[in-house]
Amino acid sequence: HPILLWFRKDLRLDDNHALHAAAISDRPIIPVYIREPEAKGCGPLGAAQEWWLHHSLAALQESLDRLGSKLILREGDALTVLEALLAETDAEAVVWNRRYDPAGIAVDTHIKTALRNKGIEANSFAGQLLHEPSRLRTGSGTPYKTYTPLWRALEQSDEPPFPIDAPAKLAAPQRWPQSDKLDSWSLLPSKPNWACDFPDMWTPGEAAAHEKLEEFIDAAIDGYAVDRDFPDKPATSLLSPHLALGEISPARVWHATRGLSGKIPTDNIVRFRKELAWREFCYHQLFQFPKLGYANWSDRYDDFPWREDPRLFDSWRRGQTGYPIVDAGMRQLWRHGWMHNRVRMIVASFLIKDLLIDWREGEAWFRDTLVDADPAANAANWQWVAGSGADASPFFRIFNPVLQGEKFDRDGHYVRTFVPELAALDRKYIHRPFEAPDDVLKCAGIELGTHYPRPIIDHAAARQRALDAHASLKRDE
Ligand code: FAD
Repeated sequence: HPILLWFRKDLRLDDNHALHAAAISDRPIIPVYIREPEAKGCGPLGAAQEWWLHHSLAALQESLDRLGSKLILREGDALTVLEALLAETDAEAVVWNRRYDPAGIAVDTHIKTALRNKGIEANSFAGQLLHEPSRLRTGSGTPYKTYTPLWRALEQSDEPPFPIDAPAKLAAPQRWPQSDKLDSWSLLPSKPNWACDFPDMWTPGEAAAHEKLEEFIDAAIDGYAVDRDFPDKPATSLLSPHLALGEISPARVWHATRGLSGKIPTDNIVRFRKELAWREFCYHQLFQFPKLGYANWSDRYDDFPWREDPRLFDSWRRGQTGYPIVDAGMRQLWRHGWMHNRVRMIVASFLIKDLLIDWREGEAWFRDTLVDADPAANAANWQWVAGSGADASPFFRIFNPVLQGEKFDRDGHYVRTFVPELAALDRKYIHRPFEAPDDVLKCAGIELGTHYPRPIIDHAAARQRALDAHASLKRDE
């Protein structure tokens, strides 16, 4: 009897524990991917990530073909689809790797019980995180609510399990069940094709994820600790979209940095591992507080006087705020489905604190436009900036978009790349075009208000308004 191998956000053959369990069971394997309907708390994938999913599934299909196997695509409620496949194929077992978002956990728990009640073997495995959240606990046995102790525990605990290599061949069933055609799912945008520039930056799929990791280890990790904050430097790993859909395992990434001590300064390796630990911490938060994506971790923020202003929100989304670093970030997001971490913090601070727009609006926009959208990392980081999160940045830390630009994009290369209408502007004014004298603007071919907007808000006044709004909240007991 065959075994069903259910792929989800683990679109890889390498270090795939469920796949490994299926391969050593000596049973024919039927790999399947199910496009599931929306579930509360973890909606369907955003449009940018659907683009990624299409290409990632195509890559997985090719890899499985090479092992003499196939990928069966089905759409619908997961339990119904699995039951149909079990009946069609005579399979008696299903394996998968665990997910840690609340909606996913609820679906999986229900499916496991329902299948087992029917005498079907149903087993799940670890692999999306470095360690199972249930394994890393504080001294008093509770999950972590602050980052630093979690990082210390990670550092002191055993290394994550060593990655398992992909199998060389997969046993095929005598007959394959019918599969949807990938194209029939219409995951790619058509008119307009807003993803036309994505391929300049990205190649989805497992092979490309491994190449990215190698490139990063060879060329960028040496210098990561300092350079990671500068958006015009190719200094970070760009692994986030690959990790988000599980094309590479965090354990594989972690272990790739092991042999480097002695060759490059340790602070770079530690800094990089610390970022992987942030990913882990975000999942700990989501695991403890399933409402993380739509409710304040700290309920003190429930009374925050948010403003509704669709016009200002639209200027932010389109990168038309008149603050070049904010606009460059928002346009990078639209063009490449990704934004540099430093700039994500700047644009989020601007939306929440300068415009006083609810962090949930920003979270939703990012979820739809990021190729690395992740239910834990996105929600936790938005709440971190808003001050409402676990171990969050204090609300009064309000970024000045001009000074941030001048500090982290000193020569304005990043702004010039994504806001081409400012390309000819003198370096001195690249982050403050509204202060440039008329002749400087003229010489750069810019008329403010025509080619590039004047600031949609005065930062100094907005900062004070935000502090006042925050002061109106009741204090924590
Ligand atoms: P690197 O610097 O190479 O880091 C390596 C890996 O560590 C990343 O791939 C990522 O998996 C993890 N990581 C790094 N920083 C963080 C962080 N702050 N929180 C959690 N994990 C981190 N990251 C996402 O993966 N998905 C999101 O939806 C997401 N939304 C964000 C929203 C906001 C408002 C902010 C401020 C940050 C968000 N991040 C998110 C975190 C971070 O910006 C990205 O992980 C990072 O920019 C990805 O680029 P990289 O792979 O080159 O990172």
